[in-house]
Amino acid sequence: VQRNPGESEFHQAVKEVIDTLGPALRHHPEYADQKIIARICEPERQIIFRVPWQDDRGEVQINRGFRVGFNSALGPYKGGLRFHPSVYLGIIKFLGFEQVFKNAITGMPLGGGKGGSDFDPKGKSDAEVMRFCQSFMTELYRHIGDITDVPAGDIGVGGREIGYLFGQYKRITNRYESGVLTGKSPKWGGALVRREATGYGTVYFAEEMLKARGDSLEGKTCVVSGSGNVAIYAIEKLQMLGAKIVACSDSNGVIYHASGIHLDTVKQLKEVQRRRIRNYIDEHPGAQYIEGGQVWDIPCQVALPCATQNELDAEAARTLVANGCIAVAEGANMPTTPGGVKIFLESNLAYGPGKAANAGGVATSALEMQQNASRDNWTFEHTEQRLHEIMTGIHQDCYETAAEFGSPGNYVIGANIAAFRHVAEAMLAFGVI
Ligand code: NDP
Repeated sequence: VQRNPGESEFHQAVKEVIDTLGPALRHHPEYADQKIIARICEPERQIIFRVPWQDDRGEVQINRGFRVGFNSALGPYKGGLRFHPSVYLGIIKFLGFEQVFKNAITGMPLGGGKGGSDFDPKGKSDAEVMRFCQSFMTELYRHIGDITDVPAGDIGVGGREIGYLFGQYKRITNRYESGVLTGKSPKWGGALVRREATGYGTVYFAEEMLKARGDSLEGKTCVVSGSGNVAIYAIEKLQMLGAKIVACSDSNGVIYHASGIHLDTVKQLKEVQRRRIRNYIDEHPGAQYIEGGQVWDIPCQVALPCATQNELDAEAARTLVANGCIAVAEGANMPTTPGGVKIFLESNLAYGPGKAANAGGVATSALEMQQNASRDNWTFEHTEQRLHEIMTGIHQDCYETAAEFGSPGNYVIGANIAAFRHVAEAMLAFGVI
């Protein structure tokens, strides 16, 4: 805390991991001898830069850009860019730290990193977003590359932003280096299924947790927070597996639709028109809009937090458990507060932490990198099949590791120890660097 003052989300993410590593450290005294924990908590590099741009009125605006290369023991830095007014170094470091472990559990050759800016794309014109992205990339380009650091999207960075960023990278470097960014449109080098991957993967993870208990998602009543990229495709896959989704949200409020959310309307509002979720009731007067509400107050059997960090606190966790919720799988990064996690772990509910449950996005980014490197395009079916296998494998790894270290069914311990072991072994092999 003294070394990284004021970075509360980063402290929270580090504490959550370290608190679970005791059994692994007892089995491997060499990790402590070689100060692996102290090394893993210190980013390899952190870049902070000025992003000046002009708005539509001709006024100069200044934002702050970040890119943190957290750990490259297993491969090039890999992790998204977040554009949101709440972004500061502590958010980027928490996300980068989580990313190291998440990427390790996928079993793919990926290090961990994260970046972004306090720029708010909401309410900006396309031209403003383009000028911002061009300015952002004009500094970032010198720090990234397909074998160095490969950014992708996150909150506020979707297909439009990735397009502008890639266009500027290509222009500055004189290289059509497809593998420098993932989340590209399939029309120019992107992989099919990348857009769907985080949401679909989270649902596959939830399905595996239920399967391990002899149950399934079919017929379950679900709530999903958020209505962005992860939430939309989580809802889509839940519906494909026969579940009923009765609520979703954005940062202003919640839509409750007892007969089931119409995903076409949500996609139209959020992906095409860039409007608010409250506009859903214009199309569906039978639904209810709750300004300032939370989806956790709506009774459900399965809950998927897919919006942002610390959106589900202890009180919300208690409400979910009291209402009979049997599974929570995190599409977002660190959406549950430490108090909320404690309640889930003390209850009989199946709890899948984001590091494991939302790793399908980055895993599919690695598949995009593979396709770019071999100048190939895979079909939707083949890529989705790979995603499904990867998520089943991640679930099994977490499940078995939890049992091996004396906490069967505890996916937090399973995910943290499985991931930590991968990274620690590589760091040991490289010596003190
Ligand atoms: P989007 O920007 O597409 O959507 C984010 C959604 O969350 C929106 O509905 C947004 O509402 C809501 N939201 C964002 N910030 C807040 C906030 N401070 N309070 C309340 N609601 C908020 O982002 P993604 O769907 O890509 O990301 C969602 C989560 O998933 C993040 O935690 C991200 O790190 C994580 N994630 C994303 C991956 C990906 O592939 N995209 C991969 C792995 C994890 P509003 O529009 O009102 O802001």
